[in-house]
Amino acid sequence: MKVFVIGLGLIGGSMAMDIKATNKNAKVVGFDANENHMQEALQLGFIDEVGVFEDVKNADVVIVSVPVNAAISVVSSVLDIVKDDTLVFDVGSTKAHICNALENHPKRRNFLATHPIAGTEFSGPKAAIRNLYADKTNIICEVEKTAFKLQERAFSIFNDLGMRIRYMEPKAHDRHIAYVSHLSHISSFMLGKTVIEKEKNERDIFDMAGSGFESTVRLAKSSPAMWSPIFEHNKENVMETLDEYIANLQKFRQLMEEDNFEAIYQEMAATNRIKEILKGISIKTS
Ligand code: NAP
Repeated sequence: MKVFVIGLGLIGGSMAMDIKATNKNAKVVGFDANENHMQEALQLGFIDEVGVFEDVKNADVVIVSVPVNAAISVVSSVLDIVKDDTLVFDVGSTKAHICNALENHPKRRNFLATHPIAGTEFSGPKAAIRNLYADKTNIICEVEKTAFKLQERAFSIFNDLGMRIRYMEPKAHDRHIAYVSHLSHISSFMLGKTVIEKEKNERDIFDMAGSGFESTVRLAKSSPAMWSPIFEHNKENVMETLDEYIANLQKFRQLMEEDNFEAIYQEMAATNRIKEILKGISIKTS
């Protein structure tokens, strides 16, 4: 199986690693807009060779793992030149834009829209890790628009990676993911900003951070190059989540002002239900 990976960072790199490890017949060719990243991927050994874009013509599977704003034109250009029986899938964190943009592409049946709910706050080839996808969910959108034989090829790869499949419509995906992922990132970035602006002494932040601050601000280490296009693509949903979050923060502040600590206790006790909801999940997802 000839696999061509475009975008050799955390997500594409980790996928290449696991595909090579689970399928001894897989030959993985890599391509990236960043020349250094291609050389790093080769040295790290998760691609067998560096390719040029036109090599997708010879691929059985093409994985597009670039920021969501670049993914639309990259997938479209790939579909323009691949063989009739090549599977092309993206891994982008938003789904409505790409599904809409490719709706009328003559090779739409070669494309599968996916979002693996797995990741870390790190980026680039060095961030790629083995088993990133084990026991994680892969959200598939508009599966019926992909040729059945190519769906089967994709599911065989996801199965080898240890992923569960969940089907969703692109709009529903973007609405749900705005709450559980996009809002978490904004909240983490703005918490980091608030503390950095107030605590000018970096040593104090480091010494007093403790596990609470460190774990809550983890996502603020994430790449702006990846996240600003996500917020742009999911603007309406993200703004709605922000309105609700800001209203909750304002309510909390008001209860503080009114010395209503009984109500604050109740707010927190009700939210403790999150322990049950997330039981058994290792929270390393994006
Ligand atoms: P990443 O580590 O930054 O890797 C992306 C790679 O693509 C970088 O090497 C980047 O080079 C390169 N690139 C950018 N534009 C390109 C283009 N037009 N053509 C070819 N290569 C290009 O990012 P990532 O975390 O792997 O994310 C990739 C995709 O996965 C995104 O769509 C993201 O939404 C999705 N995703 C991410 C996570 C997560 O937790 N990180 C989880 C699920 C899905 P430069 O660095 O030089 O720009």
